[in-house]
Amino acid sequence: MQRWAKAVLILSLLVGWIVPVSADAQAEGPIYVVEAGDTLWGIAFKFGLDAAQLAEANGMTLNEGLAVGRELVIPGFQGVSGVLATRSVEFGETLQSLSLRHGLTIPSLTRLNRVVNPERLFVGQDVIYAQGQGDGLLIAESAARQVSSGETDIELSMRTGLSAWALRTINDRTSRMWSLPGEMLSVPAAGRPTTALPPDVESVSIDPLPARQGRTSEVEVRMQGEEAPTGALGPWELGFMATEPGRWVALQGVHAMAEPGMIDLHLSFGGTAGPMANEFAQPVYLASGDYGFDPILTVPDETIDPEITGPENEQVAALVAPVTPERMWDGPFLYPAPYTESFPSLFGSRRNYNGTGYDYYHAGLDFYGGTGTQITAPARGQVVFAGPLTVRGNTTIVDHGWGIYTVYLHQSEIMVSTGDSVEPGETIGLVGATGRVTGPHLHWEVWVGGVPVDPL
Ligand SMILES: [Zn+2]
Repeated sequence: MQRWAKAVLILSLLVGWIVPVSADAQAEGPIYVVEAGDTLWGIAFKFGLDAAQLAEANGMTLNEGLAVGRELVIPGFQGVSGVLATRSVEFGETLQSLSLRHGLTIPSLTRLNRVVNPERLFVGQDVIYAQGQGDGLLIAESAARQVSSGETDIELSMRTGLSAWALRTINDRTSRMWSLPGEMLSVPAAGRPTTALPPDVESVSIDPLPARQGRTSEVEVRMQGEEAPTGALGPWELGFMATEPGRWVALQGVHAMAEPGMIDLHLSFGGTAGPMANEFAQPVYLASGDYGFDPILTVPDETIDPEITGPENEQVAALVAPVTPERMWDGPFLYPAPYTESFPSLFGSRRNYNGTGYDYYHAGLDFYGGTGTQITAPARGQVVFAGPLTVRGNTTIVDHGWGIYTVYLHQSEIMVSTGDSVEPGETIGLVGATGRVTGPHLHWEVWVGGVPVDPL
């Protein structure tokens, strides 16, 4: 055993021996602060303990009440100290970067969180960490410094039993260092985040979390450099727009019938230099939109014939696909029709035409209003289509920029032409009953990134 290690060992024995043990001394370990609704069993389960173990470590009986705010020692985490807290995993964080950020070894972090698959930490996932010193890195620091002269990282690593990343932290290297995927990816400079993202990237966020069927996801990247990031959310390619220098935003609709579960947020940061990977992917949870089921609807067979609906759907999809860089709208969109207290049909409800199965959904919001009710533009934009379609009837499509389009169906009259600019509140057509309808109404769609989203 090296002399320094002996010294540390002896010192720690001495400290343990000398420090007086107070009457209410408890087991060592991180502190969990009891929250409303917690039970001893629930807390024990959270940390992979049994309730008796937890009770014993805290000098309690199993049936003792738990006051909110009571501090419980969580046994079995040797060396870990501090108050346990919970936060959300951000895009670009890995077990390694969390370990660095919170001063916890990967085994401690894994056990605290009972992580099943460390390669699939998802964005927004709750992670438990210890506020304060974490475990052992500070002790290791003083020890390692004494032996660092003239030794390589590998020798030091073997000698101290610490990984290379821990040593890099300990050795106070302030620049970020990059290595192969799966290895330590970064070394934090003081006060900087420790994510596995390239150094030019300051932050990545996605809102809302979880992503939800029929809603718009906003992905924001703050990074240096002129070149836009690229990427995809699940199957949807993201179109990033610069809002100010260094800030990029992509708006992307999530399909109302997309399978709930994990989807990957994949980003590529083209402008970054150096040997590090400039791509990163991380799962994001996609939640159900909890849409209801409409009663079976009876319609003429030809209106659900794929021979007829297919080409029309493709025509509309192609019209709303381009992402115009100019953002034409400003502020919230207005309603396109006057009756807004209630709606005959909401977005997302599952539909079954002629008893063939719930394979369809309502891709828009329906407004009341008889034939001739005025339809008004909800925001500034440019008309990209105005004309009759078989299923949709008299249809207008308005491009608002940044991949956002609004679509108006079943009109009795279209009052704009392709290429026209429209202003918010401007009358663009009249409600009608053309196309696949049972009566006059406005069917209004909002598309974001080539996907219809809930207009409300
Ligand atoms: Zn409708």
